[in-house]
Amino acid sequence: NGTADIIDGKAVAAGVIERVKGARNQLEAETGVRPGLAVVLVGEDPASRVYVRNKSLKAEECGFHSEQHSLSVETSETDLLALIQRLNADPAVHGILVQLPLPKHIDEKKVLLSVSPEKDVDGFHPINVGRLSAGARDEALMPCTPAGSIILMKHALGPNLSGLDAVVIGRSNIVGKPVVQLLLQENCTVTVAHRWTRDLPAICRRADILVAAVGQAQMVKGDWVKPGSCVIDVGINRIAAPEKGEGKTRIVGDVDFDGAVKVAGAITPVPGGVGPMTIALLMANTVTAAARLLGRPELA
Ligand code: NDP
Repeated sequence: NGTADIIDGKAVAAGVIERVKGARNQLEAETGVRPGLAVVLVGEDPASRVYVRNKSLKAEECGFHSEQHSLSVETSETDLLALIQRLNADPAVHGILVQLPLPKHIDEKKVLLSVSPEKDVDGFHPINVGRLSAGARDEALMPCTPAGSIILMKHALGPNLSGLDAVVIGRSNIVGKPVVQLLLQENCTVTVAHRWTRDLPAICRRADILVAAVGQAQMVKGDWVKPGSCVIDVGINRIAAPEKGEGKTRIVGDVDFDGAVKVAGAITPVPGGVGPMTIALLMANTVTAAARLLGRPELA
């Protein structure tokens, strides 16, 4: 038993941002256009407000044209769809992100469908989902958290993941399923686990790459981890932290870090692992979308 390498998501994300800035500079030098990101928020949800603010600030740091549209919680679906149509047609905007969840009176599916697939920097539009599963990576915009998770694996294991056994716990549309598609394209042998999976610990023990995207605090125990493997913990869970004082909380992942770190070869911490990659990949997607829309895909 040793101690795993701890994958520094913040440092890897900073590297992604540096590449984004380079691409942005080249794009502006050659086309005169800056990549533009529009972030749309409906309502006052405090967590969503923080996310939207961080995305807009990061876009500014990257030297993008950055727009934030904050709409009242009473905004009608028709008005929201009209705003998205304007952004779809706006040549200064290359990426459109609608912060979820939306208020109950608005049909989320309809809204996601209305975003131009070429500007869908979240990668949630069915056209991009289809492109990803058809292996058309040059045309797709890929969901940010899954794409960031793959970069972290390659950081730990090297660029060639071919033939490795990967186990993904979770099959949501925003994390689990796209991670599965990306791992398949990396030539991994992929097992997808979920609530109905029998003997999950035994299945996890086969994994050279174990991805936990479950939403259950510290569910994956150290003895589920194959010695020397790479563990990517996507989970973000808030639990009570009485050691910090009464009523205090802290953020943990879906993996029991203290147990797994003794067995794995490499592991992402929470916070500071996958989290910082998500926003970095959003910036990367914006530059990619801009380069394609400006007819210079090779600059992305
Ligand atoms: P969902 O709740 O949409 O999906 C959870 C998945 O885990 C489901 O497929 C579910 O199975 C499966 N699951 C739940 N409980 C169990 C269990 N006991 N055993 C086996 N499988 C189980 O969550 P998301 O995919 O949206 O998110 C997953 C986690 O990742 C969350 O903690 C979330 O906060 C975090 N997250 C982090 C991001 C980041 O930037 N780092 C971005 C997005 C999410 P079934 O389908 O059978 O119900």
